[in-house]
Amino acid sequence: MYDYHTHSDFSGDCDIPLTTMIESAIFKGLKEIAVTDHYDPDYHDDNFSFIPDFDKYHEALLSYSERYKNKIRVVKGIEIGIQDSVIDEITQTAVSFEYDFIIGSFHSSCGVDVMKGDFFEGRDLKSIYVDYYTYMYDCLRKFNDFDVLGHMNFFERYLAMGEGLADDESFYSDIVDEILKHLIDNGKGIEFNTSVYRYMTPVTMPRDFVLARYRELGGEIITIGSDAHTPEAIAFGFDRATEILRSHGYKYIATFENRKPSFVKL
Ligand SMILES: [Zn+2]
Ligand SMILES: [Zn+2]
Repeated sequence: MYDYHTHSDFSGDCDIPLTTMIESAIFKGLKEIAVTDHYDPDYHDDNFSFIPDFDKYHEALLSYSERYKNKIRVVKGIEIGIQDSVIDEITQTAVSFEYDFIIGSFHSSCGVDVMKGDFFEGRDLKSIYVDYYTYMYDCLRKFNDFDVLGHMNFFERYLAMGEGLADDESFYSDIVDEILKHLIDNGKGIEFNTSVYRYMTPVTMPRDFVLARYRELGGEIITIGSDAHTPEAIAFGFDRATEILRSHGYKYIATFENRKPSFVKL
């Protein structure tokens, strides 16, 4: 197994030491674990910061990838929070270290928080979908230095807990198509994020129609990530993810080294 989305106490919202996460991954028999701690420079929360101590983080990635190399491959990664307000900062950070793998994610949209629900306030259901993906498309045309788009329908995790989800995608599928074409044209992948199985979200992440459409349009790069913030969550739901990807005709998942994808059989 190859878990391509995990966190440690270098992320403000996680207090598990990186060594504990890596050793749990070894215990579960993983071949690779991508450490992708948060960097989301314009994310505002009084309880934590999404800016890691980069010197310590980079040092840990280098030393642990060396220390554990006979037991597991530790992929030196980062999850970058994309917002229009910080395009310059995130562009610089992406090249500030020799990362193997970068996830580009949206935890905020249109300048407001998605997790706390601020983004939903004052928007009807259709605007939530249309605004979220329109903003995503705008930002992706300005920031290109990532490898896979993380948890594409992240907002639906939180929408599902409150207002409920749209059951018809026809009113926003054109925008999603534009995003997918843009990703494919730029050699970018998408991520199947298995956190939906922990959060009991009623749709996959991304949704089925997106998984199908990415392939139809010629997309080939997909990673599977648990988004684990605890050892128990590492590789959680990977059997179900594999089944779903196979059902859409995916035969390979991507792994990364020095920002270049390789493919392993599903
Ligand atoms: Zn994320
Ligand atoms: Zn994450």
